[in-house]
Amino acid sequence: MSTEKTRTIDELGEFGLIDHLTSGFIKRQESTSVGVGDDAAVVDHGAYVQVITTDMLLEGVHFDLVYTPLKHLGYKAVVVNLSDVYAMNAAPRQITVSIGISGKFSVEALEEFYEGVKLACEKFNVDLVGGDTTGSMTGLVISVTAIGTALKKELTLRSTALNNQLICVTGDLGAAYMGLKILEREKQLHAEDPGFQPELTGYDYILERYLKPEPRVDVLLALKEAGIVPGAMIDISDGLSSELLHICKASECGCQVYDERIPLAEETKEAAAEFQMEPLVAALHGGEDYELLFTVPLSGFDKVSSIEGVSVIGNITDKKGSALLVGNDGGTIQLQAQGWKALAKDE
Ligand code: ADP
Ligand code: MG
Repeated sequence: MSTEKTRTIDELGEFGLIDHLTSGFIKRQESTSVGVGDDAAVVDHGAYVQVITTDMLLEGVHFDLVYTPLKHLGYKAVVVNLSDVYAMNAAPRQITVSIGISGKFSVEALEEFYEGVKLACEKFNVDLVGGDTTGSMTGLVISVTAIGTALKKELTLRSTALNNQLICVTGDLGAAYMGLKILEREKQLHAEDPGFQPELTGYDYILERYLKPEPRVDVLLALKEAGIVPGAMIDISDGLSSELLHICKASECGCQVYDERIPLAEETKEAAAEFQMEPLVAALHGGEDYELLFTVPLSGFDKVSSIEGVSVIGNITDKKGSALLVGNDGGTIQLQAQGWKALAKDE
């Protein structure tokens, strides 16, 4: 056995691990314009570019079939990838869907999953062009790849934020995480008492936010109509805090956001109160909201504020490495990189 010291993955964290494993690869193709490190890779074809992104969903890690309808799962598996394409300001065109399945799945169950995939294809005008099917010993495995196109001059990266630009988010944050908390709570109660009937009425909004996220194509269209090309853009899959830090790192800048401006739905606040937690924590670290976080020049303030579903929450600063959350009283907290499984550790 080797006596070499080994490190645990936890020491590096998700993003540290990705950096560590991929930093030794040198770029060989002229056309590879953006590689690892953004919402999608970018392949240069001249005036237009192709973007490519992939995400894997594992049963027991990313979804629980006890409370996730297969049709919703199929839909969500596709839209989380489309969300990364939209975050590049690109239009999705094709997807591939690969699945690892165990013997417990019937043809009908898989048909249901593919109904969700089809619904997403219809709604977002993309073609399913391939994939792979294998057996799995560890539950359902889903891997989706999405391909899109953009005009090179309209592409929005994580690395293109500029000092003083306004920081905007779409929709409201933290709802998906609260939806997941409710589903987990009801599952637990049912496990403790099989006679218990899960009570999900009244939680429709947050449950839908978790089970059926919707990429914000509407806001991208509104920005286009208003003549605004965002500076930097990223979709919020891991929580606002983590995504702000990605933009700051890639753009070599800092940021400050005001806690009272972070959009929270009433339903999110009510559910958070049931768990005696701060809804802001769900917004900062919960993830899975699939809203967009983007920057716009200061001159775009009036235009961007008038777009429904957009909140201006702060601004980019030149203080590299400083991502601040400013409280009501003017006090500041340094935002922490959390990401992957961070909430599980907090609790
Ligand atoms: P997102 O949350 O937008 O889906 P991720 O955090 O999953 O992004 O990934 C960040 C970047 O790291 C992306 O460019 C992605 O393609 C890349 N990446 C993630 N895992 C790997 C891996 N195992 N090998 C190579 N690149 C990876
Ligand atoms: Mg992303």
